[in-house]
Amino acid sequence: MKTDILVVGSGCAGLYCAMHLPTNREILIITKDKEDCSDSFLAQGGICMLKDESDYDSYFNDTMRAGHFENNPESVEIMIRSSKDVVEDLIGYGVDFQRESDGSLCFTREGGHSDKRILFHEDITGKEITGKLLAEAKRHSNIKIAEYCTMLDIISEENVCQGAIVKNKEGEIFPIYAEVTVLACGGIGGLYRHTTNYRHLTGDGVAVALRHGISLEHINYVQIHPTTLYTEHTEEKSFLISESVRGEGAVLYNAKKERFVDELLPRDVLTKKIYEQMENDGAPFVWLSMEHIPREEIMSHFPNIVRHCRKHGYDVLQECIPVVPAQHYFMGGIKVDMHSKTSMERLYAVGETACNGVHGKNRLASNSLLESLVFARRAADKISEKPFGANNAPRKELGAELNAYQNGEALAQQYKKDILDEIERLNKLCMIQSQ
Ligand SMILES: Cc1cc2nc3c(=O)[nH]c(=O)nc-3n(C[C@H](O)[C@H](O)[C@H](O)COP(=O)(O)OP(=O)(O)OC[C@H]3O[C@@H](n4cnc5c(N)ncnc54)[C@H](O)[C@@H]3O)c2cc1C
Repeated sequence: MKTDILVVGSGCAGLYCAMHLPTNREILIITKDKEDCSDSFLAQGGICMLKDESDYDSYFNDTMRAGHFENNPESVEIMIRSSKDVVEDLIGYGVDFQRESDGSLCFTREGGHSDKRILFHEDITGKEITGKLLAEAKRHSNIKIAEYCTMLDIISEENVCQGAIVKNKEGEIFPIYAEVTVLACGGIGGLYRHTTNYRHLTGDGVAVALRHGISLEHINYVQIHPTTLYTEHTEEKSFLISESVRGEGAVLYNAKKERFVDELLPRDVLTKKIYEQMENDGAPFVWLSMEHIPREEIMSHFPNIVRHCRKHGYDVLQECIPVVPAQHYFMGGIKVDMHSKTSMERLYAVGETACNGVHGKNRLASNSLLESLVFARRAADKISEKPFGANNAPRKELGAELNAYQNGEALAQQYKKDILDEIERLNKLCMIQSQ
C-alpha cells in the first residue's frame, strides 16, 4: 500500500497537520483505536491565547518559570505569537469558546499563570476543539482515516523514512509506503499504573525512535498532575480534576480538613507538596473542596466533573472529594526542530510525541493543545514546500522481516521496557549530575 503522506495518530496534532497539507496530496491518518479515542478529546481546562501585547512578557515568563527555564525560548515565542491565528482558525471551524455577556472571549486561569488567558468550553474544551477538527478533516476528500490500524514500526533505510509497518483491525501486517511520515502518537501514559491518559497511548513513536537511533530529548521529563479523583480501581484511567477548578477557588485540605498549600503553585511543586502531605497523613489521597466557588460557576463551568464525581458517589456541591496525583503529560519526546522535523529524513513528529523544547522541564497548564496545533501547522507548511511524489519515494522491499512483528504482545513489552529503561537511565544521570 502507498500514500503521499502518512500521519500516525488522530489527535489534535495529527488532524490539524493533515488539514494543512496540500489538498492535491493523498493523506492517510492511521489510529490505534477509534478515531475519537485520543487524549485531545480528554482535555478539560482549555487552550492558552495571547490576549494582547501587554500580556506577552507575563505569558512568556510564566511558561519559562513553569519549565524551570529549561524551555527553548525560540519555541515559546513561536507558540505564543502563533496563538491568535490558531484560535481564529478554530473559531472558523465552529469551536464554541465561552463568551462574556458582550460577546467577547471569556478567559480563565490555572496554576502557574499570573493572569487569566485560557479559553475554554465548559470543562470539555478538548472534545469541543478536536471534535470540530475531526469533522473538518472529514470534509477533505484527500484525507482518509483508518481506525484500529497500529503502527508497529517505521520503514527506514540510510536514515530516510519510507513509511510504516502496520497491523490493521483484521490482524494483517503490511507496509504502508509514504513520501513523508508524521508521528502524532501522543504521550506515554499507558506505560504507567496511574495515568489520566488513554491506556493505548504507550509512547510507540518514542519506542520506534529509540530503535532507529532517531534523536530524542528529555524523555525523563514526565508530568504528574496533582489532582485526579482517587479510586481504588487502578486499572481505570484516572479522572482529572482540572486545574481550572483550583483556578476558580477550590482548596486542598489534609486529613484534618486544614488547608496546607497554595493551590496555584506550578504542577510539579504542588504534586510534591501533596505527596508530602499524604505521607504525613498516612493517607492515599488529600481532599479537594469547591465550597468557595459559587454554585452557578461550578454547574456552568464544570458540569462534566460534577457528573463524573456524582457517578462515583461524591456530590461536589456538598462535600470534599479525595484527590491524588497521577501521570499526566510527557514534556520530552522525539527531538524536532522549529518545523517539527526529526533527525531522520522525511520523518516529522508533532504533538505530545515530539519535543521542541516549549515546555522545558514542566508544562504550564493549557499550553499543550496550543503547542500541538502550532507546531503541527508548521510541520504541514514545511512538508508542503517539498515537491516529492509517493512514486518517487525510495522503497525498501520487506519480505520475511514482517514475521518479526507477528507477536504483538512481545513487541509491546519490548517497547515498554526500552522506554522505561531509558527514562531510568536518564533519571540516574540527572541524580549523579546534581550531586
Ligand atoms: C485528562 C487530560 C486533560 C488534559 N487537559 C488539557 C488542557 O486542558 N489543556 C491542554 O492544553 N492540554 C490538556 N491535556 C493534554 C493534551 O490533551 C494533550 O497533550 C494533547 O491533546 C496531545 O495531542 P496529540 O495529538 O499529540 O495526542 P493524542 O490526542 O493523545 O492523540 C494520539 C493519537 O495517536 C494514536 N496512536 C498512538 N500510538 C499509535 C500507533 N502505534 N499507531 C497508530 N496510532 C497511534 C492514538 O490512537 C491517537 O489517535 C490534557 C490531557 C489529558 C489526558
